[in-house]
Amino acid sequence: MSENLLKILAAELTTLRITCLNEECGTVIEMPIDRIREESSKEIVCPLCQAKIRSRQGTDTLSKLATAIDELKAVKGVEVSFILRQGTGKE
Ligand SMILES: [Zn+2]
Repeated sequence: MSENLLKILAAELTTLRITCLNEECGTVIEMPIDRIREESSKEIVCPLCQAKIRSRQGTDTLSKLATAIDELKAVKGVEVSFILRQGTGKE
């Protein structure tokens, strides 16, 4: 089976794309990972429907993810990457 591989280095992860699913809103927000981490005490709301995407806790999943990605970038002695596989459909 053939497959296409897409390798993404942790260091290349710079932006999170968040889609608001509140009542089929569908608004897409893109935020720099650094900003999500640095502004972890700020609330994030959907610019269209005002749904709360992140509360002011700083311990939410988005903040944890941003922190983990930053920590991955700082790991010494190894290179961390993510592999996306896309099969061709031909086996
Ligand atoms: Zn929304």
